[in-house]
Amino acid sequence: MLNFKCKKCKSLFTDDQISVSPWKQIKSEKTKKDNESDAAFLLKLIEEATRNVRCPKCQSTVYLMGKDGFEMDVTSEPLVQFIKGLVDLHKNYKKENITPVSFVKYSEEAIDYAKEIIGHLMWKPGTLIYFEDSYLMEEAKSAIDSLWEDMNYEDLSNEMFSGGYGGLLVSIIGDYIERGMKLKPTFVSVKPDDIVSVYFQNAMECWLYGINSATLILCCSIIENLLKLETKIVQKAKSCMEKYREQTEGKKFIRAY
Ligand SMILES: [Zn+2]
Repeated sequence: MLNFKCKKCKSLFTDDQISVSPWKQIKSEKTKKDNESDAAFLLKLIEEATRNVRCPKCQSTVYLMGKDGFEMDVTSEPLVQFIKGLVDLHKNYKKENITPVSFVKYSEEAIDYAKEIIGHLMWKPGTLIYFEDSYLMEEAKSAIDSLWEDMNYEDLSNEMFSGGYGGLLVSIIGDYIERGMKLKPTFVSVKPDDIVSVYFQNAMECWLYGINSATLILCCSIIENLLKLETKIVQKAKSCMEKYREQTEGKKFIRAY
């Protein structure tokens, strides 16, 4: 029998209290691979069953409960799972109140979690992180604040320049060169106004750095501004024609336009 705890409303329940058994919804191959141990195979099935479980009260995803109330999170994205691990250590750190030692250097485990979290965040700085569990979210903020206090530029840059964070630096430079090579200068015969010039340059830079959605939005703004410019030219031409029409009222060619 498996025990679960709702991430949101914290209800406790077992797999036989769910209307549709999570075991019946398992889609993966139910036979064990040759090189797979019995324990690894069983854990894989339990994790998959847990991913199928929703809280009967609020339909949120759940923690798998282990011995002594240990909450195992198998449904969140990896970054959230690492943050949850960091939160548990952060709680112990605060409880033990070892102020002279920094949080990250508090234990080998904290260093490992910090490495994983920073590695994820270096690829996606400032990313949105969704927590169903609002209590955990507050604790996560606090743990991340402590982690931030311990971060220093030198360690991060050494890691980055030595190929760390999954070769992020090489990847950025590689993408930059590849995209930069595709951006030939653009020749125009009409002098662009300041807004168009700025937006155009920003759009080029966004695309160069791989920010494709922002590039698209800027391109739309450029077109919008060009059309406004076009409208101004058309309106000016129309008003000139109107003036001309007034001046030539009664003459044969006035209906020519
Ligand atoms: Zn619930």
